[in-house]
Amino acid sequence: MVYSKRNDGRKFEEMRKMEAKVGVVKSADGSAMFKIGDTIAIAAVRGPRDLHPKFMQNPQKGILRCNYNMMSFSVDERIRPGPSRRSREISLVTRNALLPAVNLDEFPNAVVDVFVEIQQADAGTRCAGICAASMALADAGIPMKDLICAISIGRVGGKVLVDLDKFEEDYEEGSTDMPVAMLPRKAEVSLLQLDGEIKPEEIDKALELAKKSCQEILEIQKKALKEKYQNE
Ligand code: UDP
Repeated sequence: MVYSKRNDGRKFEEMRKMEAKVGVVKSADGSAMFKIGDTIAIAAVRGPRDLHPKFMQNPQKGILRCNYNMMSFSVDERIRPGPSRRSREISLVTRNALLPAVNLDEFPNAVVDVFVEIQQADAGTRCAGICAASMALADAGIPMKDLICAISIGRVGGKVLVDLDKFEEDYEEGSTDMPVAMLPRKAEVSLLQLDGEIKPEEIDKALELAKKSCQEILEIQKKALKEKYQNE
């Protein structure tokens, strides 16, 4: 069946409402919150600091580590605490999405830790986590060549659309979820995953939508960063 109207009334090219805030975790070197619809991600950065054990150190440059976690109350059904296959995968793709923007050449033997906690989940948590993490890295003063923006492009009932919510991810006739992260300045893609099917001719449209959406996300990220530093 054709998905002619979105469940929550959004246009096919419209993202959910977004909010961002920088400096939400006082004990961290940098932190940020990114909310998209009912999905809320909090990211905290610690470092650069000496990496222990020492044999893991890289004398050429610092190391980036990422840890993604869904809080046990982030969805109706309690999430079992501790790492899972899914959280390990998302930690890995988060790191890979951030790395092309981050320059740790000045920090040999050091580590920068990024902790992403999902406080509320309604689909798109890896994208919200990446958006929050990139702002938290900037807040921590880590040298970066760009921010990183991420959004999920979907295909539901034959329609290509932006930012699936949980209803759309679980669409009974099946759906496709394609999370994309970009360094927006040059539209450099640093993450592209595909869960489901998409026609080759639809990929260009999907990437074009991702590029346009990432520009909107970038403005929200920049505004939140400026807000923190204007108030200090
Ligand atoms: N989800 C859940 N329980 C879990 C994992 C995920 O309810 O253990 C929900 C949550 O709302 C999440 C959504 O399923 O946002 C989609 O998860 P997916 O693995 O596709 O990653 P995401 O879209 O969050 O990046």
